[in-house]
Amino acid sequence: MLQEIAPHVYHNEFQNPKPRETDLVTVFDGRGALLDGGRYPTVTRMRKLGVSDEDLVYLFSIDDTAFFLLWEVTDAVRGGLEMDRVEACRTMEGPYMALAGATALHLYRWYRANQFCGCCGTPNQRDEKERAMRCPVCNAIVYPTIAPAIVVAIRDGDRIVLTKYADRATPRYALIAGFIEIGETMEDTVHREAMEEVGLKIKNLRYHGNQPWGFSGTLMLGFWADLDGDDTITLDRQELKEGVWVRREDVPETPNPLDLTHTMMELFRKGLDPKD
Ligand SMILES: [Zn+2]
Repeated sequence: MLQEIAPHVYHNEFQNPKPRETDLVTVFDGRGALLDGGRYPTVTRMRKLGVSDEDLVYLFSIDDTAFFLLWEVTDAVRGGLEMDRVEACRTMEGPYMALAGATALHLYRWYRANQFCGCCGTPNQRDEKERAMRCPVCNAIVYPTIAPAIVVAIRDGDRIVLTKYADRATPRYALIAGFIEIGETMEDTVHREAMEEVGLKIKNLRYHGNQPWGFSGTLMLGFWADLDGDDTITLDRQELKEGVWVRREDVPETPNPLDLTHTMMELFRKGLDPKD
């Protein structure tokens, strides 16, 4: 999965190191990432494009490589790098580039959405002691925002519910998923989403594991569940275009999945889901 990068180590402690020549820089512009030959540009490359070290915000390190975010994207940077989809990091060479890209994207979107104080409208400042944006006038503070969401594999013996989203051009089969609402427990969300999306009652909830998924700013929490009663699927057609019971041997294979959903689908397909 995305976060499984051993023996490499992700370091998230807040610090303010000076950029070194071989450190890497993530550059986002609208919906795209700006890359250098399909890779994150180095600090040396950015300096050649006229970027000063003061414009580089430290994000995190993997092993001893620091990753920075370019704060202001200039025309010289746009002209010197090539635009790619933000998801390009998923197929980038290197076992941890996908985690780096997703996490940098999550932080970029958070910084961008919090440039101004939500209480009084004053431009926010980056806090120097912790990862936070602080208003210099009213002192309101915003910490990195993570939206928890659940994914649930609903089983009935050797069958599982698979769905396809309505709003994707070429959707893959996925599991039931949804954001946790304010005031809910994780378990409340699992039951609610199962009922809302496919009209099924479930029981025997079992926590599987979790995954940071920066592409959507979420922390995904995975659950196994069993059908409780009637197996008739009633689809939420606004959100889904398909919802079906699929036999274990017919679950489509996903080699080396990065995401929790397809990791759980693979476990079910191979008969490795928990049985009691
Ligand atoms: Zn303020």
